[in-house]
Amino acid sequence: MSEMMRFGLETWWGVTIAAVLTTMAAVAVSEALVYLLYTGQDLRAALRVGPLVTIITAFPFCMFVWAQVRKNVHLNTELQRLVDRDRLTDVATRDFFFARMRAEPKAYGISLMIDIDHFKSVNDTHGHLAGDAVISRVAMILRQNTREKDIVCRFGGEEFIVFLHEEGPQAAFHIAERMRKAIADEVVNFDDKALSVTVSIGGSLKEQVADITRAIQQADEALYRAKSAGRNQTVFASAIDETASVSAA
Ligand code: GH3
Ligand code: MG
Ligand code: MG
Repeated sequence: MSEMMRFGLETWWGVTIAAVLTTMAAVAVSEALVYLLYTGQDLRAALRVGPLVTIITAFPFCMFVWAQVRKNVHLNTELQRLVDRDRLTDVATRDFFFARMRAEPKAYGISLMIDIDHFKSVNDTHGHLAGDAVISRVAMILRQNTREKDIVCRFGGEEFIVFLHEEGPQAAFHIAERMRKAIADEVVNFDDKALSVTVSIGGSLKEQVADITRAIQQADEALYRAKSAGRNQTVFASAIDETASVSAA
């Protein structure tokens, strides 16, 4: 089904228009059949009555059928949303991320692996709902600091991947640092408690010929170095930038 048709069927107006058009097609067919097959005396009367009978019988049926189609369109859209968007944060899911990267194997840019520091203690101290609120806010800040063409993905629990399309190491490093600082400065108010967290970020370059899984692996290694070096910092895989690849808080 084309996107335009799918969009049209999202409303009851679209359903009614589709039912009217289908009924008109049925009227045309029934008129042609009457004209060709009618053997009685009064063809004119038969041609006048035919459309009425067709409209009375076909229109409710068409409305019913198109209403079912509309329901399926809604279900499909909702299912696709569940596959593409993470429910808690509304950023892309892991599946969506890999599907996008598979669709553009020659994409180049920077992969950032972002992990909330000591997040388990947020859950342990304030409860899982507070933890959820923190994860959502971190996702929101990541989105605010990316462009339309970038991808923000919840990779797992409190880990995110951001793919900065067509961005070089220097500029990407500044973006990563902007994200890190914005998260560190943010205060999440939950149940009269003010919560704040920091993140560690690992970055790596994906060249056009390179595979995304390799880039993720390198970003993960850089993230591990950021954690080991004390957290709340950005580390880029050394191969991509020897000059300014590590920043401490
Ligand atoms: P590190 O600084 O080394 O990253 O430590 P950490 O505590 O952040 O890492 P760890 O992997 O030990 O803990 C991650 C926690 O995230 C454990 C898990 O219960 C929690 N978590 C995973 N998914 C969710 C979620 O959707 N909501 C909440 N509230 N917690 C989650
Ligand atoms: Mg963590
Ligand atoms: Mg983690």
